[in-house]
Amino acid sequence: MPLIDELKLSRRLQVTARLVFDTAWRIGTGKEGITSSDLGVLLDPVGKPVLPGSSLKGRLRGTCEGLAHALNRTACFLNVSASGVNCVSDVEYYRQVKEEHTAAVRSGDPQELLRWINAHSCDVCKLFGSPTRAARLRCADGQLETQDAAVVQVRDGVVLDRDSHTAVPRLKYDYEVLPALTSFRIRFDLENANDTDEALFGAAMFEWSAGGSLGGFTSRGLGRFHLEDVKVFGVNLEDPKERVAYLTTTDPAKRLRDRGDWKTYFTGKIESASQGGES
Ligand SMILES: [Zn+2]
Repeated sequence: MPLIDELKLSRRLQVTARLVFDTAWRIGTGKEGITSSDLGVLLDPVGKPVLPGSSLKGRLRGTCEGLAHALNRTACFLNVSASGVNCVSDVEYYRQVKEEHTAAVRSGDPQELLRWINAHSCDVCKLFGSPTRAARLRCADGQLETQDAAVVQVRDGVVLDRDSHTAVPRLKYDYEVLPALTSFRIRFDLENANDTDEALFGAAMFEWSAGGSLGGFTSRGLGRFHLEDVKVFGVNLEDPKERVAYLTTTDPAKRLRDRGDWKTYFTGKIESASQGGES
């Protein structure tokens, strides 16, 4: 794909799934909770649990970083000296190449600028965004499916001595959790994602379907989840038929086409990426 085409909307992919917590879980607020426990959980104004898109995106980024190597892709882990991958998401590295970047911006040539950014971004940051480029992936907030079951619970914790790893007498705190089996409908939107991006993303969907963990206190077994009912919809605006259908449909649910079985769809992308496809 010519670099300049990255600036035009050419492909959209929308992936939805049900995220089910298999254990109790918490997305903390860092403040006191509604039960006046020490550590509250994040709730909306009417008291329903919230699963922020930013939490999903952060966790997904971690999953993709872990999978990048297996797919022959680069991940900077936001740390160039540790990963050996040059990427402007590492603030320290960006400082070193900032003048080059500024020169590319000042050149007024978008091709030149995109070429520079691509050469200084790892594959994970191409998908998730960096200080120099917009993300190709967006994560919506989860939509709660289990309205009545999501009741805030309180658990006791003890303060551990960092050196002896034993409980400090009389230093106790409590924290809020939400119950197992809470489920959310989640949605990801990918714009102009290439086959490499979709392979990374798809591999993460396989991993999350097998099970992952999300939120706080995961080392205590909180936040175990899995995905169900993954669906993939998309449009390729370079295909004349799909383009006309997309541009003349008003129902948002019908603008994108069902891409069929998600496992088949992403397996194709993963196979071509692991054989060293486009970057
Ligand atoms: Zn990076």
